Amino acid sequence: MDTDCLFCKIAAREIPAEIVHETDTVVAFRDINPQAPTHILLIPKEHIAGIDVIEDAHAGLLTDVFQAAAHLAKADGVHESGWRLVANVGPDAGQSVFHLHFHLLGGRSMAWPPG
Ligand code: AMP
Repeated sequence: MDTDCLFCKIAAREIPAEIVHETDTVVAFRDINPQAPTHILLIPKEHIAGIDVIEDAHAGLLTDVFQAAAHLAKADGVHESGWRLVANVGPDAGQSVFHLHFHLLGGRSMAWPPG
């Protein structure tokens, strides 16, 4: 755990969040500023700063995150209408939290590319 990391603190229940799913390796919670009817953040419990520092040893964790995303899309009822999984990296993408996370978005039609 990184004691300065917001998402580590959410995973450790030190900061409240609406946690919707948890496994041994993954935590998922609703985004505080939702951009779609379904907007869930999925994080590995392990502190990894972002996609740009992923190593071979993280392969299993990423599988766990993607399986959790598919599970949550179904649980939130967007598995048939469609959903998007997004990871922002760096300033142009708007990354604001440096703990690896994926945005699960669904429940509305989405333009491509957004913005
Ligand atoms: P990013 O901009 O890709 O780094 O995404 C960070 C996301 O974390 C944003 O969508 C924020 O709305 C969200 N966020 C920030 N603080 C919290 C919090 N305390 N609980 C839930 N989501 C948060």
